[in-house]
Amino acid sequence: MKQEVLNLEKNKKGLKEEDAVNGESKKDFSSRFLSLLASKDRDFLLSSTGDQVKVSDLEGKVVGIYFSANWYQPCRNFTPVLAGVYEQLKDRGCGFEVVFVSSDEDSDAFASYRACMPWLAIPFSDLESKKALNRRFQVEGIPCLIILQPDDNEDESTLREGVELIYRYGVRAFPFTKQRLEELEKEEKEKHENQTITKLLINHNRSFLLSQSILKQVEVESLVGRTIGLYFSAQWCLPCLRFTPKLISIYHKIKQVIVEKKRAADSKEEGFEIVFVSSDRDRAAFDSYFGTMPWLALPFGDPTIKNLTRYFDVQGIPCLVILGPDGKTLTKHGRNLINLYQEKAYPFTKAQLEILEKQRNEEAKGLPVTEHHAGHRHELTLVSEGSGGGPFICCECDEQGSGWAYQCIECGYEVHTKCVKAVKRGSTG
Ligand SMILES: [Zn+2]
Ligand SMILES: [Zn+2]
Repeated sequence: MKQEVLNLEKNKKGLKEEDAVNGESKKDFSSRFLSLLASKDRDFLLSSTGDQVKVSDLEGKVVGIYFSANWYQPCRNFTPVLAGVYEQLKDRGCGFEVVFVSSDEDSDAFASYRACMPWLAIPFSDLESKKALNRRFQVEGIPCLIILQPDDNEDESTLREGVELIYRYGVRAFPFTKQRLEELEKEEKEKHENQTITKLLINHNRSFLLSQSILKQVEVESLVGRTIGLYFSAQWCLPCLRFTPKLISIYHKIKQVIVEKKRAADSKEEGFEIVFVSSDRDRAAFDSYFGTMPWLALPFGDPTIKNLTRYFDVQGIPCLVILGPDGKTLTKHGRNLINLYQEKAYPFTKAQLEILEKQRNEEAKGLPVTEHHAGHRHELTLVSEGSGGGPFICCECDEQGSGWAYQCIECGYEVHTKCVKAVKRGSTG
């Protein structure tokens, strides 16, 4: 009851402002951006329950303008993340509001997408306003979250990368000012500089990892001093299913190399381990997937998984992050290095990779400049990073590659040099 009275009061007050909005004086808003959320015939936004909320109620708040659509998976992934942050900021009494600008195909789609959004929206039928906002903020892709500061009359304080910031920092990103972001970046940098394997993998409730024998848990502490691969993967991901068996075979080969080194009394050799960081959607999938792996794992659904994904900014799986014996990050491109060099990539140090790179360039010098490959009808040309090559997916083995490759520019066909099956073909084709 009390709430209704309050709304009535607001509506009365709003009547006077309505005239201002409909007239010339849109500048009455302290932020000129707020006027963009209203139109000639509309001075309100829709709340999640369908009530009208005055645009002027947003004065003094940090406002996120959220461009999104239900038909696009990356939007559907982001919306619940933003909703979580939004609810937390509301609970803390922070002045934050979100306004949804829909690119849904019809009003039914809009309504069903709206159902999972606790914030405000531009009415679906107001095409003009939606178009104007897209144009004003030059939205090129969705999801897009533009953050406006209160009293913001300068374009420089408008943040465009709201989606990345929410993914990266969650509620900590609030109030999204340049100053706050600088603080967070500094904190992040310090964290990476002081990074250790125990800080990364232990949390308040857990100091162990799972191993294959059900009864055995392995203390994170026991991994100190080893080279560690953090393997971000999931059973529902097809490229993961292709890469995992390959990684397993390389893992065993690396272990073998280490045994041999130890036999040769290389006392510096501390060993290698992989930790599976699962984004499987249910425990059954995790159990069956982890069941195929010879290494350790974080428990299914452990909060550390989310933190690590955010911390290493993992944008796609499979991803293999390699940590050195001191716990610092050696490379986030473990997958590519395994594809390129197999077990020789170990121990993934800069020195080792430089040696391999050099060898690879030497070997490539001995390769024919053109080659006929059994899997493609045109002649392929040898390319390197400096001559038209670059990151690619090999058409023969479906794995990532970079640097030296055989390529058919016409078709966009590219294979690893090791994947070429040379065939002799007559010069007449
Ligand atoms: Zn290949
Ligand atoms: Zn071709």
